[in-house]
Amino acid sequence: EPSSLSGLPAGVGEALEAEGVAELYPPQEAAVEAGVTDGESLVAAVPTASGKTLIAELAMLSSIERGGKALYIVPLRALASEKKAEFERWEEFDVTVGVSTGNYDSDGEWLASRDIIVATSEKVDSLIRNGAPWIDDLTCVVSDEVHLVDDSHRGPTLEVTLAKLRKVNPGLQTVALSATVGNADVIADWLDAELVESDWRPIELHTGVHFGNAINFDDGSQREVPVERGEDQTARLVADALDTEEDGQGGSSLVFVNSRRNAESSARKLTDVTGPRLTGDERDRLRELAEEIRGVSDTDTSEDLADAVEEGSAFHHAGLASEHRSLVEDAFRDRLIKCVSATPTLAAGVNTPARRVIVRDWRRYDGEFGGMKPLDVLEVHQMCGRAGRPGLDPYGEAVLLANNADTREELFERYVWAEAEPVRSKLAAEPALRTHVLATVASGFAATRDGLLSFLDNTLYATQTDDEGRLAAVTDTVLDYLEVNGFVERDRDGGSEGLAATGIGHTVSRLYLDPMSAAEILDGLRTVADDGSGPVGSADADGEFVAADDPTADADDPGFTTYTRAGEDEPDDPASEGPASAGDAAPAVTPLGLYHLVSRTPDTYELYLKSGDREEYTEVCYEREAELLGDTPSEYEDVRFEDWLAALKTGRLLEDWANEVDEDRIAERYGVGPGDIRGKVDTAEWLLRAAETLARDVEGIDGDTVVQVREARKRLEYGVREELLDLAGVRNVGRKRARRLYEAGIESRADLREADKAVVLGALRGRERTAERILENAGREDPSLDGVDPDSSASAAAT
Ligand code: ADP
Repeated sequence: EPSSLSGLPAGVGEALEAEGVAELYPPQEAAVEAGVTDGESLVAAVPTASGKTLIAELAMLSSIERGGKALYIVPLRALASEKKAEFERWEEFDVTVGVSTGNYDSDGEWLASRDIIVATSEKVDSLIRNGAPWIDDLTCVVSDEVHLVDDSHRGPTLEVTLAKLRKVNPGLQTVALSATVGNADVIADWLDAELVESDWRPIELHTGVHFGNAINFDDGSQREVPVERGEDQTARLVADALDTEEDGQGGSSLVFVNSRRNAESSARKLTDVTGPRLTGDERDRLRELAEEIRGVSDTDTSEDLADAVEEGSAFHHAGLASEHRSLVEDAFRDRLIKCVSATPTLAAGVNTPARRVIVRDWRRYDGEFGGMKPLDVLEVHQMCGRAGRPGLDPYGEAVLLANNADTREELFERYVWAEAEPVRSKLAAEPALRTHVLATVASGFAATRDGLLSFLDNTLYATQTDDEGRLAAVTDTVLDYLEVNGFVERDRDGGSEGLAATGIGHTVSRLYLDPMSAAEILDGLRTVADDGSGPVGSADADGEFVAADDPTADADDPGFTTYTRAGEDEPDDPASEGPASAGDAAPAVTPLGLYHLVSRTPDTYELYLKSGDREEYTEVCYEREAELLGDTPSEYEDVRFEDWLAALKTGRLLEDWANEVDEDRIAERYGVGPGDIRGKVDTAEWLLRAAETLARDVEGIDGDTVVQVREARKRLEYGVREELLDLAGVRNVGRKRARRLYEAGIESRADLREADKAVVLGALRGRERTAERILENAGREDPSLDGVDPDSSASAAAT
């Protein structure tokens, strides 16, 4: 039992011992000595896989034992559930765990009863903005991967969130876990924390560069890995690891490449190495796994992944569905998959060690930079840190690839010998401060300009900067912006300038919108407000919209003007009372108009325009200009016009999704993965939900417009045309099944309750269990399909 442990719930030591923690690792020991179990704040800057999580657990458990409550901040949503599952093993000590994901705009009241709460920094920021009452009760906060404060998109949120938490709870214990970075001492300074810094690893790591016939390692040793003429360097190294048995097993490899496409093609190529080395038993298990992967979704990506996995090789990138990702990670940890080709996203967080890490690409295309750019030292070090599985491998090997002697020297200088870059705050930038200044004022952290500046003094930026005036200057620019857009009011009389959020400013802060997104959405909605100036084109004579690119549009399609809201449970909103009737004036807004509007806000990552896109979308733009909310910029305003078209491309992707276009078609048409489609759809749904709330603050907006915003959002949620909204809302139905049911004459939830079971079963391709579940979810009294024969109905067989 780790001897130095005190202040923890009784039995924790034994429990740790039972899971293989015979003694604390040296950095953990140092953390305990620094007082992490006595409520001391701490920055732990140690390499990947050297037990940072346990340091955090010791802090949280001891804090809870003293009657407190802990918050664990993760950098990625995908990690939240992984961490929660990890912490749930403490439930036998009466420690409860909750994870807060999902929508940003709620106060997560139920979390008040949990001892440990896991959430992303964005979620925590939002919980603070929405006044979650339990925030005041926190005694311990852990920030995982705190070096990400350096990230220009997400870092400022983490920085401001930690500053707010510490301001609300002056005695708060702050535990920050970091990779080994160049300036961990500055982070410790900022957080008034003790510093534990170490290069210690539980398993030896040899880093080297392969060129020609050998790997040269940092300790001066060499390993012969000859590459034949025409042979692939990566394949040779993967084969070499697999053919070198330790403990009766060959070693797995993790190959890092610079793009999703490269990850996929690398995985395909490496099946030639992994396939022939599989045992019969492994082949059987991999075949089962491949079936499971195909079952997740019927897309090309799913198919490609399954094909590779059958041969023991896999790819991993952010475009994969999350079920795919975890299947791959688990099978790799189980040593069933022998090699994973991954983009650098895998290096951060997810625990997937391999005997050998191969950093194939050390440069990556950078859109802003406009060319190939070397990866950061920190990033490469984190990839390398994935090498070596404690208890399984005698050592880990990280290998960079060079194709000439000069590059070999460069790689040694640039990465092997180099120290990771220092972390630098990115807070003093307008986009970051725009949102955080508004939220800081709206949530009552500052009521004057001086108060605001002194709050910002608690950030890493303030700790680091030599340029005292810069933060104040950017803050003033941002205050001007917020004032002009009606989000804050300033009172310039008296000593220090007074600041207050307006009603809409409060709404924007709680909705978690970038104020610039809110301004854009409000402007767009104002163009359709009832002052006679809105776009009202592109409705046909019957007041009905027909998508221009829609070959299947049916002349009898009633469109959303007669869609009935049966089965929806949003009754207490006046705007939803009754369907808009067919006799109304032509609707002023179309889904595309709304999708384009939300796609041009800074909260959406627009799709890039590729070659040829400019021409294509310029054409689309003029064809459908009447639907777009706001004035199309002139073609001579290069940047604005380009942005407008990129948003149009994104808007069209969303429109395709809502028009039931196949995922594969969409992926191909826009050059994205299925995970990206999901991401764009989720973001747009969230923004449209916000737009609906904002619409209430726009003078002259009528109920119909609000209904249309909601329908455009619901169509995204289910990925269907309006006539399927009711059906697709039944659990387990989904967009494809809804369409098949509809074609078989079952058009609504009510129809499902009445329909001939054989027709239902036929439309669901004879899948009995699915059909029963769907009937049950639709509220059918007797969902059983015993004795029902799908072929007995002629119309069912047709689908
Ligand atoms: P990090 O968060 O630093 O990347 P982890 O906390 O994930 O690393 O630890 C890596 C692995 O080491 C985990 O599987 C963990 O259970 C194990 N581990 C941590 N501390 C010890 C210890 N003192 N003794 C044995 N194994 C440990």
